Amino acid sequence: MPSYITRYFIPTLRNDPVEAEVISHRLMLRAGMIRKVAAGIYNYLPLGLKVIRKIENIVREEMNRAGSLELLMPAVLPSELWKETKRWDYYGKELLRFKDRHDREFCFGPTHEEVITDLVRNEVRSYRALPLIFYQIQTKFRDEIRPRFGLMRGREFIMKDAYSFDQTVEGARKTYDIMYETYTRIFTRCGLNFRAVEADTGAIGGSSSHEFSVLADSGEDGLVICRKCQYAANIEQAEKREIKKGFEGKTSEKPIEKISTPGKKTVSEVAAFLNIPPQKIIKTLIYLADQKPVTVLLRGDFELNEVKFKKVLNANELLLASAKIVEEVTRAPGGFAGPIGLSFLKIYADEEVRGMDDGVVGGNEKDIHFLHVTPDRDFKVDQYLPLRKVVEGDSCPRCEEGTLGLTRGIEVGHVFMLGTKYSEAMSAKFLNPEGKEENMVMGCFGIGIGRTAAASIEQNHDEKGMIWPVQIAPFHVLILPLNSKSAQIVQMADQIGAELEKSGFEVLIDDRNDRPGVKFNDADLIGIPYQVILGEKNLAEGLVEVKIRKTGENQKVPLGEVPAFLKEHTSHPA
Ligand code: ATP
Ligand code: MG
Repeated sequence: MPSYITRYFIPTLRNDPVEAEVISHRLMLRAGMIRKVAAGIYNYLPLGLKVIRKIENIVREEMNRAGSLELLMPAVLPSELWKETKRWDYYGKELLRFKDRHDREFCFGPTHEEVITDLVRNEVRSYRALPLIFYQIQTKFRDEIRPRFGLMRGREFIMKDAYSFDQTVEGARKTYDIMYETYTRIFTRCGLNFRAVEADTGAIGGSSSHEFSVLADSGEDGLVICRKCQYAANIEQAEKREIKKGFEGKTSEKPIEKISTPGKKTVSEVAAFLNIPPQKIIKTLIYLADQKPVTVLLRGDFELNEVKFKKVLNANELLLASAKIVEEVTRAPGGFAGPIGLSFLKIYADEEVRGMDDGVVGGNEKDIHFLHVTPDRDFKVDQYLPLRKVVEGDSCPRCEEGTLGLTRGIEVGHVFMLGTKYSEAMSAKFLNPEGKEENMVMGCFGIGIGRTAAASIEQNHDEKGMIWPVQIAPFHVLILPLNSKSAQIVQMADQIGAELEKSGFEVLIDDRNDRPGVKFNDADLIGIPYQVILGEKNLAEGLVEVKIRKTGENQKVPLGEVPAFLKEHTSHPA
């Protein structure tokens, strides 16, 4: 049976709610999908919950297909387990803690490594039971400092969390790969444009953590992606292919020249003052690596890849030096640091500084810069390395011909090799085939269900409203009888609705007694992928209009052929 708007519950709002900063939040409120109860805590109204359930179903099907077993752990967790891993203290204020009537401490689970590890250590003895992957779809609570953006960063939110237990690191890696594949299937089935982003290369070796990111301009994370292959990385981690250029041997013809630059400190100020492009400036940065000052030089328009620099230095801590330290080191106020006369420090330079044969550098003196500076002639560089951040158009480090692009993403899922961190802390051991006790090797795998719904809106919308991918749309088809007073139109809407439902479509009928304009606006706002519009004129000719929400394409279709037309379309959705 189709659903009818007058008997459904879709409290749409005409105006933008002021508290909503991002599009998904705004549109979910306007479309009557969610309502706020407290900061970061929401009611999911029927239309919103329908999307949530669709995503959950896809997740469930794919997790089951991968051989993962669904269970359900409690949301309220005793402190004792959290104390075993020391996370009771370590987790900080994001952990919502409270006491029961007997003064025992509990928390509302933000994640479930402790609980699942406790279960498995109590129940699993032998290697024969392994590997195991458990998952649940459950409400989590994290007392985020800044809950915002609606379902994107809530405090109470629905997560699919999975935990794996293997005998060996190789086994755990296989499980990891299966989960990686599963996540790829899940987000593909959700109809989303996404990338798996290498998060870091941990101690276990190889890539031990990937974040699945939905690409959207409004995303929190800056990403670098290859336009040709699947390479994707956080901007902080991104690599580029190094192309050797013939830099050696170039030297400025002109001698070095001192110039007064009163009050000009930043690259853009100096460039504007000297009327030169920022590429001509050699930027000097002073860092403290484990508290010891080091210098790094970059072309004026580039930025330092701090992650890489830290690795190169093999430092535990890398911080940009404070103004006070810069002054102590250079004997000049900040903004006038330069490599000339700083040879008592170790000087690193980005590869591309090598080719700068007529550069501008700070003079280590208030209001002074030098012109016509050439590295290796006017100052020494201890080491040239590729140290700058990737920029648009750099070459892909993975594939042969791809170029890199900068984009933004929303992390919707995370796959992670845990190793033996939890099994060691909680003594989750098994007997190996030789009868020896070993720690289980674990992995954990999360997906934010509500965040995935929100991310889909961030990626798929226009000025009129949401555009749901068919796979996770609350309904597939919205029927709009334009004149609900005409018995013939109402009857036709019912009939088409019933036919479509029979063909497997989920149908909503806007049977409200409203003007067509109101119905059209709400239809576009809610973003159901296909609209079937019934007007008197078309109907007289035996036709209805089918509108594809995504493209705005409009097509007249003979009355009896609507299901066939939509079948054809949804087999390769617009
Ligand atoms: P973030 O860096 O965004 O805080 P996280 O690293 O804390 O995320 P995980 O602990 O890996 O996230 O949780 C797994 C998934 O749960 C995330 O990929 C995300 O989709 C979702 N998630 C995490 N925190 C929230 C939140 N506050 N609101 C909604 N979804 C969330
Ligand atoms: Mg977090």
